Amino acid sequence: MPARKPAFRGSEALLPILTSMLVARRSAKTAHYNSCNLQFPQHFQGHTVLILGIESSCDETGVALYDTTSGLLAQQLFSQVEMHAAYGGVVPELASRDHIQRILPQLDKVLIDSGRLLKDIDAIAVTQGPGLGGALLVGTSVATALGAALGKPVLGVHHLEGHLLSPLLAVPAPNFPFIALLVSGGHTQLMSVDDVGLYTLLGETVDDAAGEAFDKTASLLGLGYPGGPALAKLATLGDPNAYKLPRPMLHSGDLDFSFSGLKTAVLTLANKLRNQAGSLTEEDRANVAAAFETAIVEVLTVKCMTALKTAGIKTLVVAGGVGANQRLRSSLNKAAAKLGFAVFYPPVNLCTDNGAMIAFAGAMRLAADLGENLFTRGAFSVRSRWPLSELSATSLA
Ligand code: ADP
Ligand code: MG
Repeated sequence: MPARKPAFRGSEALLPILTSMLVARRSAKTAHYNSCNLQFPQHFQGHTVLILGIESSCDETGVALYDTTSGLLAQQLFSQVEMHAAYGGVVPELASRDHIQRILPQLDKVLIDSGRLLKDIDAIAVTQGPGLGGALLVGTSVATALGAALGKPVLGVHHLEGHLLSPLLAVPAPNFPFIALLVSGGHTQLMSVDDVGLYTLLGETVDDAAGEAFDKTASLLGLGYPGGPALAKLATLGDPNAYKLPRPMLHSGDLDFSFSGLKTAVLTLANKLRNQAGSLTEEDRANVAAAFETAIVEVLTVKCMTALKTAGIKTLVVAGGVGANQRLRSSLNKAAAKLGFAVFYPPVNLCTDNGAMIAFAGAMRLAADLGENLFTRGAFSVRSRWPLSELSATSLA
């Protein structure tokens, strides 16, 4: 991945945080910065800060080094998806054990790739939650041990904040404010991202996540795990209009989603077709896949456009594995072009879980004085459930 152009410079104000973890709060006035181009104020400039990021909340192990002058220096990412495929979903215990084996070799590799040494690291950012408890414990244990050994501060980062800020690592990066559609195996959310630490949840799924719906529907059609890519491939062979499936909550008047009923509708349809003909033909399966994909894409597209219009924001950022779906991309592009909105898709290695977004979110939080999740005196905790709304929304008192 190419190094990102400098996003912001290091911080004199950061250093006291890094050393004492107790910084006299500056006035809101002096802390203001132009978030559109990430120009940090004068007193933030002059020092380069090197942040190690560690992600282990689910089935990806990610380690990255982010430098506040040069951008992303190196990252390592490993997906456990093949290991979990045999079980049809993520097995938490296996996920934790695999993270244990990956993190330190990944750390060695990012140090080699970046030409930096352990002692060069100024701070460590690690996913504290939400996610699988055991998996989170692996990353936080490594981070805290490293922090203690190096005498460097460790900051717990909210996984979703990592996703929301990750588009800023891409080249070109979108400007604040933007609407973020986060569509993964574990999340389906529409957020308004106004600035670092300023996130508003506009809507979310009330049951299954979009990726989960793809995976479960793929399983009903006899496709392997993860089902999203396989279902999308099969759908290209089908007729999206062969069957009319429901568009759940399309007209609910809010920005929430529901996908479990759609999965049930597919099950009912598949059973009906089986009862009629004894089995599902290849053509039936492709048609069902296309009809399902079209239904889910239509709901996502309509809600995204409504969110943009309602918030008066012109940019949509799509993150999460489902963002790779081609039908979703062309539908969003078409709808956005009609309404004069821009849609932004960060590269796939920044869309799925990764260490770079955690390093970056940690750097941004520290630079904006939002370091309240610093682990003190080697103590740490994980937060399997952690509403984003509990993050501090304002940078300074
Ligand atoms: P998580 O780690 O929360 O499961 P990821 O961001 O790793 O989420 O994305 C994985 C999810 O994305 C899976 O549910 C997978 O089926 C889905 N997915 C990946 N590619 C596609 C695609 N082309 N179409 C639809 N869904 C997809
Ligand atoms: Mg994943």
